[in-house]
Amino acid sequence: MATMTSDTAEKKAVAGGGFLITEASPADCFFPEDFTDEQHQIAQTASEFATNEIVPASDAIEAKDYAVTRKLIKQASDLGLTSVDIPEEYGGLEMDKVTSAIIADNIAKQGSFSVSFSAHVGIGTLPIVWYGTEEQKKKYLPKLASGEFIGAYALSESTSGSDALNARTRAVLSEDGQTYTLNGEKMWITNAGFADLFTIFAKCEVKEGKDAGKERLTAFLVERGAPGFTVGKEEHKLGIRGSSTCPLVLADCRIPASNLLGEVGKGHHIAFNILNVGRYKLGNAAVGAARVCLGNGIRYAKERKAFGKSISEFGLIQEKIADCAVGVFVGEALSYRTVGLIDAALAAVDKHDTAAIQKAIEEYAVECSIVKVWASEMLDLVVDDVLQVYAGYGYVEEYPAERAYRDSRINRIFEGTNEINRLIITGWLMKSAMSGKLALMPAIKKLMDEVMAGPAAKEEREGLLAEEHTVLASAKKLSLFAAGAASQKYMQQLADQQEVMGAIADMIIEVFAMESAVLRAEKTDAKSMSAIAVTMARIYTSVAMDKVELAARRIVAAVAEGDMLRTQLAILRRLAKRDPADTIALRRQVAQHMIGAGKYSL
Ligand SMILES: Cc1cc2nc3c(=O)[nH]c(=O)nc-3n(C[C@H](O)[C@H](O)[C@H](O)COP(=O)(O)OP(=O)(O)OC[C@H]3O[C@@H](n4cnc5c(N)ncnc54)[C@H](O)[C@@H]3O)c2cc1C
Repeated sequence: MATMTSDTAEKKAVAGGGFLITEASPADCFFPEDFTDEQHQIAQTASEFATNEIVPASDAIEAKDYAVTRKLIKQASDLGLTSVDIPEEYGGLEMDKVTSAIIADNIAKQGSFSVSFSAHVGIGTLPIVWYGTEEQKKKYLPKLASGEFIGAYALSESTSGSDALNARTRAVLSEDGQTYTLNGEKMWITNAGFADLFTIFAKCEVKEGKDAGKERLTAFLVERGAPGFTVGKEEHKLGIRGSSTCPLVLADCRIPASNLLGEVGKGHHIAFNILNVGRYKLGNAAVGAARVCLGNGIRYAKERKAFGKSISEFGLIQEKIADCAVGVFVGEALSYRTVGLIDAALAAVDKHDTAAIQKAIEEYAVECSIVKVWASEMLDLVVDDVLQVYAGYGYVEEYPAERAYRDSRINRIFEGTNEINRLIITGWLMKSAMSGKLALMPAIKKLMDEVMAGPAAKEEREGLLAEEHTVLASAKKLSLFAAGAASQKYMQQLADQQEVMGAIADMIIEVFAMESAVLRAEKTDAKSMSAIAVTMARIYTSVAMDKVELAARRIVAAVAEGDMLRTQLAILRRLAKRDPADTIALRRQVAQHMIGAGKYSL
């Protein structure tokens, strides 16, 4: 097996969501500082390919010249960039998930192409890797690996996007058991305009087992050209205009019964497991896009003069550059940490055991959703700040900030909207807590006992980021406190209080981001003495703690009143007590470092 050896496999197993109740160390986490030589090489290959081949073809890509997009995917295949998730026996390179994430990150220099590419290698190919029969794998995977075939994934319908299980498309097996006939429509399907192979989800009657006689979501492989299959007109989109997004029409579309993917009635497993991968890889791509966008912003800020100075000398411009750089730094930390967790879990699993592979990935469903939400929102802030740096020029098409601004917005919508992902984060943790899978309840009880015992002596820590570790520990306590108060009040009805669920998710997201930033900075500092990483971790800890405190106040105000509210607010103030960091000075340091380097650099 050509799996690359990264030290992710050596990390100790960490339970999904466990970061909330345990203290991790830098050695437990995988960050870009841990890339192997081979991973660095792949990063360079993907980055150079994007810079030298994809970006120069931008005009053709944006004009929807799909021959160019196909040609570029083929070229990427020749470099091995499309087949890292495909087993060797079917023409793939079968590498670890970190390598796959590195490619997504480095390809993201052109938004439209990045989406077409990701849909092909991810949601377009992975269903067959994981659920295909031997015959399906042999037939399709070599073609998908080589770029001869382009893949697409069709789950959404005009009346069911988030509510995907409510699909109306139906599939019926013929009496002789030879063909399935599909009827219905699909909406917003990426790559539809030029894809050759579609994984299509439809409701189909289950014949046996506990669901016998019921219609359940099922996946099918449908080739372009199948009778009764048509692709509708291209959507006119706000951004990623060079990617193809079309509806599909299935009017008595007949496919061989052998094109059933997985089992009848088990389509939801395929749909949701594929989405977990899509989510963390979307995070890596968003980080890659943010890095490029910031680089453009820094170069522009250095060149542009106003009031006799380069605008990069102005504090308010430096503040934006610093915020964007911190966004990239933390984004790299939390996205690679998550993929590292997944690789470590996969290293302990038989590579032929699909169920075990999915279980290993599903274990980190919360982290995958966190990466998706955090990175997509970070990218939106970065493109907005950079557009503001370009100002008037940012608003016109000739400059890159305008397209970056439009292209970014989709990330909060697909792979599960950020609302749905926030509900997943809190819902999953609450479920894990109730079932005892995650020891959240004992942690909440311990905290409550601690809080009732009154103020404790401050724990003295040593080290460069000692204060940040204390703040991080407080953020975890605040999150547990607020989540505990909310679950005590609403019990099983918490899911009906979406705003509270959302605020709890916000706290959890920030805890993971903050911890990833601090641990990465410690690792960076130990490895390369990167003082700037430490500075960025300080800034982010301060920013994130403000958000955690605010969310906790929102929750407490919703669940308590009168004396109880006052008591809870007093506890909250005690838990959140900290001296503010001088983020103005820290941001200046970061901005000056980045401006000096002319790009994002550690
Ligand atoms: C450019 C593009 C490419 C896409 N590519 C693909 C593809 O390749 N394959 C594919 O299958 N789909 C694809 N999609 C579809 C995409 O996944 C859906 O748009 C997305 O899942 C949201 O569904 P919806 O648009 O129907 O929104 P809705 O589900 O109608 O949601 C509308 C709003 O309500 C919120 N909402 C919905 N339910 C809840 C709830 N329970 N609680 C709180 N808030 C809720 C949502 O967060 C959102 O803000 C693509 C979409 C676009 C725009």
